[in-house]
Amino acid sequence: MPKGIEVATVKILEEVPLAEHSNYRIGGPARYFCEATNEEEIRNGVLFAREQRVPLFVLGGGTNLLIDDSGFKGLVLKVNVMQLAVDGQTMTVGAGMMVSDMLKFTMEHALSGLEWAGGLPGTVGGAVRGNAGAFKGEIKDRIVSVESFDVETLAAVTRGNAACKFGYRSSIFKEKNGREIILRATLNMDKGDAKMIAAGIQEKIDYRLERHPMEYPNIGSTFKNVDLELVPKIWRNAFAKVIKVDPFPVVPTAYLISEAGLRGMQHGNAMVSPKHPNFIVNLGGATAVDVKFLIAAVKEKVFEKYGIRLEEEIQLV
Ligand SMILES: Cc1cc2nc3c(=O)[nH]c(=O)nc-3n(C[C@H](O)[C@H](O)[C@H](O)COP(=O)(O)OP(=O)(O)OC[C@H]3O[C@@H](n4cnc5c(N)ncnc54)[C@H](O)[C@@H]3O)c2cc1C
Repeated sequence: MPKGIEVATVKILEEVPLAEHSNYRIGGPARYFCEATNEEEIRNGVLFAREQRVPLFVLGGGTNLLIDDSGFKGLVLKVNVMQLAVDGQTMTVGAGMMVSDMLKFTMEHALSGLEWAGGLPGTVGGAVRGNAGAFKGEIKDRIVSVESFDVETLAAVTRGNAACKFGYRSSIFKEKNGREIILRATLNMDKGDAKMIAAGIQEKIDYRLERHPMEYPNIGSTFKNVDLELVPKIWRNAFAKVIKVDPFPVVPTAYLISEAGLRGMQHGNAMVSPKHPNFIVNLGGATAVDVKFLIAAVKEKVFEKYGIRLEEEIQLV
C-alpha cells in the first residue's frame, strides 16, 4: 500500500503505479501522487512539488498517455474538480468530469451541440487542453471560457474562447505544458430534443465500438491525421478517395499505415491494430519500450513510402 503524507488539505501518496491510471495499463510508478478536488487542493499539491523541487504532471483520465516504464520522478496531480451546472443554455463543467458524464447531463437538460463526442473517453480538462474532436466537431466550438490555475503565480485565470488559442488538437494550455491546470470550462449549448440528443450520442458510441479495437487497452489514435497541405504533390491524386474533412482536409493516418503494410505489426506485447491501424494496442503486459519501438517503425516506414512525417497525437510522459 502506498504511504500517505498529509499536506494541508491534500493527501500525497508515494510510489503509486501509474499503469493503474492509464487506459494503456502501461507505466512505472509516480514518486508522489495526489488527487485534487478543488483549487485549494491543487494549490497545496503544487506547493508540495515546489518544496520537494520535483516536476509536476497533471493527470486527467489517462486516455491519451504513454507513460514511461520508469514512471515519473515527480508529483502526479490528478484533477478531480467535479461540477456540472446549467443556466439556460450555458453549462459549466469541472475539469475532472468525464466527458461521458457531461454528455449524460446534456441529455437530461436537452442541450444539443456535443453529440459528436459520444464515446470520447477522458475528462473535460483533457479534452479542452487537446481541443479534442471527432466527426467534424471540436470542443472549442462550444467553449465560451476556461478557468485555469497558474502554477507559477498560484492564481486562477479566466480566458475567453479566442484567448485559449484553440487549433487542431491544441490550445494555449497545451503550449503552456503543465504550467496551467484547467479547473472548469463554460460551454454554450443549443436547446434541443432530449431523445434526438441521446440518439445522436449513441450513434457515435456505436460507430466507435464497431471500428475501434476496444478489446485491448489503448490510448486512441497514436498519430494525428495528416494535413493535406503537407502531403507531397505526387501523392495527392492517389489519396483523393480517402481524404476527409475533420475539421480541415486530411489524409487518415490509418490509411497510410495500412498501405505501408504495417497492420498487425507486433513488437513485444504491443501491436499495430489490424482493426484500426492508427491504434497501437497493448496485447497484455506491453511495455512503453514495445510501444515506442512500433511508433518509430511506423514513422520510418510511412516516411520511406510517402515522404510524410507523422506526428504523435498521444502524449509521452
Ligand atoms: C478509444 C479512444 C478513442 C479516442 N478518440 C479520440 C477522438 O476521437 N478525438 C480526440 O481528440 N481524442 C481521442 N482520444 C484521445 C483522448 O481520449 C483525448 O485526448 C482526451 O481528451 C484526453 O483526456 P484525458 O482526461 O484522458 O487526458 P490525459 O490522457 O489524462 O492527459 C492528456 C493531456 O492533457 C493534460 N491534462 C489533463 N487534464 C488536464 C487539466 N485539467 N489541466 C491541464 N492539463 C490537463 C495532461 O497533462 C496530458 O498532457 C481517444 C482515446 C481513446 C482511448
